[in-house]
Amino acid sequence: SERLKGKVVLITGAASGIGAETARLFAAEGAAVVLSDINAAAGERLAAELGAGFVAADVSVETQVEAAVAHAVCLHGRLDCMVNNAGMIGVVGSILETSADDWHRTHSVLLDSVFYGIKQAGRQMREQRGGVILSLSSLAGVVGGVGPQVYSVAKAGVIALTRGAASELAQYGIRVNAVAPGLVVTPLVEQVYGDRDGAVEGARRGSPLGSPAFPIEIAETLLYLASDEARHVNAHTLVIDSGVSAA
Ligand code: NAD
Repeated sequence: SERLKGKVVLITGAASGIGAETARLFAAEGAAVVLSDINAAAGERLAAELGAGFVAADVSVETQVEAAVAHAVCLHGRLDCMVNNAGMIGVVGSILETSADDWHRTHSVLLDSVFYGIKQAGRQMREQRGGVILSLSSLAGVVGGVGPQVYSVAKAGVIALTRGAASELAQYGIRVNAVAPGLVVTPLVEQVYGDRDGAVEGARRGSPLGSPAFPIEIAETLLYLASDEARHVNAHTLVIDSGVSAA
């Protein structure tokens, strides 16, 4: 099927993990996909494979996010969907030992980035009178205090910003939603567990359903939220955690 036929989509952090899988799935569903990442070599490789556009950008710098949106509009004349996906784990460890600089750096990659993405994509979509903005929160942001502190705080901020932006932008026909995955087997989680087998086992053990989550499952949820089937889903953060947060 071609559930995103004719839609122009910009995905940040698209060189790896959830972003890369989302780029593949959205392209297969007929979207004109533009990939963006701070890792230009990996991003360009995947873009070439998909016949997609690529623009290098560090999402923690507003002018670079602005340029990425402008690049997508320049290539395809419009922007129908923005996926604020880029992220990292960033500073880990005790609050008492975290420097202000480390805190701000991680926070800006995980939350300031989403503000920039919503603002820059939102301005374009306001002109068009419509669009969809999706962002990656996390189980850590839903429950708070799990995982690295600044990570969890920033991901909680993504949920609040999603609700605020949705209420501000609804008047222009723009929907703003987020997803909050639990552990997903990606290079980010492989780093934490040392390797892929460790990540698969960790994600399996962490799942009440007894099965690890993979990027395609997050991409499929993003596809639903990006599609017209979700035309009345707004201001929502869809938790994809196998039920961990209820267990
Ligand atoms: P990943 O490490 O596989 O991919 C992240 C991508 O973001 C990489 O290609 C990286 O180069 C890029 N990136 C990092 N910093 C950037 C910056 N400043 N500017 C632009 N690009 C940058 O990670 P993933 O697991 O696919 O994570 C994607 C998103 O999903 C992140 O926001 C992450 O916090 C969120 N998330 C992941 C999990 C999980 O378990 N994997 C769970 C919940 C939420």
